[in-house]
Amino acid sequence: MATLEDIYRKSRLCERISAQEALLLYESGDLLELGKLADSYRQHLIPGNRVSYLIDRNINYTNVCNSDCSFCGFYRHDPKHPESYVLSRDEIEQKVSEAIELGATRILLQGGHNDELPFSFYVDLITWLHDTFNIELNCFSPSEIHQMHLVSGESYRHILTRLQEAGMRGLPGGGAELLDDDVRKRVSPKKIRSGVWLEVMSIAQELGLTTTATMVIGFGETLEQRINHLRKLRDLQDESLSKGHTGFNAFISWPLQHNENTSMGRSRLRENYGADSLQYLRNVAVSRLFLDNIIHHQASWPTLGIETGKMALLFGCDDFGSTMMEENVVSKAGALTQNKWEMSPEELRSVITDAGFSPVQRDSSYAYRV
Ligand code: SF4
Repeated sequence: MATLEDIYRKSRLCERISAQEALLLYESGDLLELGKLADSYRQHLIPGNRVSYLIDRNINYTNVCNSDCSFCGFYRHDPKHPESYVLSRDEIEQKVSEAIELGATRILLQGGHNDELPFSFYVDLITWLHDTFNIELNCFSPSEIHQMHLVSGESYRHILTRLQEAGMRGLPGGGAELLDDDVRKRVSPKKIRSGVWLEVMSIAQELGLTTTATMVIGFGETLEQRINHLRKLRDLQDESLSKGHTGFNAFISWPLQHNENTSMGRSRLRENYGADSLQYLRNVAVSRLFLDNIIHHQASWPTLGIETGKMALLFGCDDFGSTMMEENVVSKAGALTQNKWEMSPEELRSVITDAGFSPVQRDSSYAYRV
C-alpha cells in the first residue's frame, strides 16, 4: 500500500491518485504540504499568475419549494405563505437591467421546486430573457430539471433540449451538496438522489451546455463519503471527455451553512455540522489533486470570508468566483457574523490583487475577456 510520501511524490509528478490514496492524503496529509502540492498542480494546468472572476447576478425566481431540505432557510413550502413569491416579469426585467448596467455578463437563474409552475413557465421565461437581453443564461440546477420532469412527464433530455433551444447556455452545479445517498436521505430526503444529479449533468454535457461541479461539506459525513463524492465527479468527467462532450468546466466546494433559519441549525446535533476554514482548505487541496480532469477550481469567499477565500488561491484555486449579486439561498442559512454575500467587480479585482494575483474577467466557459 502506498505511503504518504509515495502519494506526495505522485502528486508532485502530476500523476493520477486513486480514491484510497486521496483518502490517506485527506486523513493524514500535512495541510501546508497539501497546499503546496495543490498549488503546483494548478500551475501545471493553468500556469501563471492570473486569477479569473465573473460578473453576474443571481436571480431566485421563486422561493416556493416542496423539498424541505433541512439545511435550507430560503424556501417556503406553502405557496400561500405570506412570504412565498414568484417573481413577475417586471421584477426580473429590473434585476437583469441593473445587472447589465453593472457590467454583468451572466444571469444565474435558480429557484425552489414549485409545483404550481408548469414546464411552459420555464421555457417561456428563457425565451423572453434570451430575446430581450444580450446576456448569458445559466439556469436551473439538476433538481429543478427533475421538478420540470415531474410536472411535465417529459424526459430530462427533452427538457434540456427545449431550454437550450430557447436560449439557455448552461446549468449551475447546485443541488449536488454531497453525492452520497445515505447523507441525502438524512438531510434532504425529498430531493433527487445522486444518480439523478449525475444523469442530468451527463445529458447536459452531451448537449454542449456548460456545467459546473459543486460540493458542500459538513453534513456530518465521513471522509470516505467526501472522497466518494469526488470519485463520482471524476468518473463522470472521464466518461464525458472520452466521448467528446463538454464536461464540467469548474469545481467549487464550500462548507455547509446552518444558522437558526434552518432545521439543521435548530437541531440539538447542530455542533456536529459545518466545517471550519482549515477543513475547507484541506478539502480544496485534496479536490485539486484528485480531480485532475477538471481544469478550473473556484475559491469560495462568501461562506468563510474573504481571507479564507484568498488562502484558497494558494491551495490550488485559479478562480475567485463571481460578484454573487443577490445570493439568497446559501446566505439565508449563513453565519450571522458573515455579512459579505456579494462584491462589486472593483472589490473582487482588488481582493485578487491583494492576494498577489492578476485579476482577469471571464465568462461561464472560462474564456478570458482581455
Ligand atoms: S435547498 Fe433548494 S431544493 Fe432544498 S428546500 Fe431549499 S430551495 Fe428547496
